[in-house]
Amino acid sequence: MADSKALTTREQDFSAWYNEVIARAELADYSPVRGCMVIRPNGYAIWEHMQRALDRMFKDTGHQNAYFPLFIPQSFLSREAEHVEGFAPETAVVTHGGGKELEEPLVVRPTSETIIYAMYAKWIQSYRDLPLLINQWANVVRWEMRTRLFLRTTEFLWQEGHTAHATEADAEEETLRMLGVYRTFMEEWMAMPVLTGRKTDSERFAGALRTYSCEALMQDNRALQAGTSHNLGQNFARAFEVTFQTEEGSLDFVWNTSWGVSTRLVGALIMTHSDDKGLVCPPRLAQWQVVIVPIYRTDSERATVLEAAERIRRELVAADIRVHLDARDGMKPGAKYYEWEARGVPLRLEVGPRDVAAGTVMLARRTGGGKDSLPMTGLAPRLAAEMDAMQRSLLDAALARREAASVRGASKEQFIEIMEGAGGFVYGGFCGSAACEAEIKERTKATIRVLPDAEFRSPVAPTHCLWCNGPSVSEAVWAKAY
Ligand SMILES: [Zn+2]
Repeated sequence: MADSKALTTREQDFSAWYNEVIARAELADYSPVRGCMVIRPNGYAIWEHMQRALDRMFKDTGHQNAYFPLFIPQSFLSREAEHVEGFAPETAVVTHGGGKELEEPLVVRPTSETIIYAMYAKWIQSYRDLPLLINQWANVVRWEMRTRLFLRTTEFLWQEGHTAHATEADAEEETLRMLGVYRTFMEEWMAMPVLTGRKTDSERFAGALRTYSCEALMQDNRALQAGTSHNLGQNFARAFEVTFQTEEGSLDFVWNTSWGVSTRLVGALIMTHSDDKGLVCPPRLAQWQVVIVPIYRTDSERATVLEAAERIRRELVAADIRVHLDARDGMKPGAKYYEWEARGVPLRLEVGPRDVAAGTVMLARRTGGGKDSLPMTGLAPRLAAEMDAMQRSLLDAALARREAASVRGASKEQFIEIMEGAGGFVYGGFCGSAACEAEIKERTKATIRVLPDAEFRSPVAPTHCLWCNGPSVSEAVWAKAY
């Protein structure tokens, strides 16, 4: 039975609101193991739709799926110096198996570069074997001290793409291609606008040459890193001796990339669109896109209404619309509305005896307001058009919100005021100094989210560092982040 108490509002306490949206929509729950998350069917359905869409995009860009083991020999992690430094503190290590102490401890993968490149060393001999384009859907473990459902959990689900190329240019092209795939997915499926660009060295993936990122702004004006794509250069190839014979006959190390998104995206989706009534889910990723609620009092009304509702359901299924008929007895329509709103179903159809007599249904939208009486004939294309419009308006609204919370050319004082107050994206000049970056983080908790790609940069390039006033080497976007 649904909890009938109103949610904490976003205004009152964003973090409490977030947890309540997840609980009310039954998306996930805390597990008996600290920091681990149980993804409940309603949450997993969203992840499955994300997975399906992304998997198609990966395959359309030439990638194949494979699966590598969960356990990695501990010594593998140490082979790439930066990599071990970055990941060692948060690894889980297995020391015993079958009642015996293991000869070499096994790390539960925090990411799979090391084991994958150890295999690539066996599989790649010649330039003819390149590019090698593999993706894996898997779980990974990072021993997090402070966890939050979907955003940061000790174990999470993700995909990790790992590719090998003959030239640095090919690897860079792949890195940027997959960043673009992520951006397209986030905009077109999640209706979530993102900034893309390069990370500074201090925010770079451990062992990468360059890291690129998609950054979104949540409704509380904190940034969320939604996906990353790394050009690994030849760092891992050297560590794992992944060599190939070039076309000219010499021997060279391959160039690698890796890229990933995780169940964190479900958290991003919640914080981008949801409101004080609960989850708002873009139609393209919704478990149920349409719910039908029959309304009746007498038994004869019930029979008539359910028959019509079932006919509508079948018609929508035939049109590839994900529809659920909520025929539960002993529950008032109002209670059903409330429950489906909290679960973020985009469209609700109410069917009562008078609707059946008139050959109509009542349409209620989860966002964008208003109810409309629609004819039962031609319902499927009409609802498909409604969903397209909702998908677009969610993206437009999120984009407008982000731009309203973005400030360009702020002074140091304004910057401090914004980071201590409302938050948001601040664009400004950056001197390129890691010390300056660290001082800003120390003083304001804001970090450089990206050195933005050309299309996001300000019309006039900043000339001075927003913090130290030294000459600017690049425009940067700062925010406090999840
Ligand atoms: Zn500076």
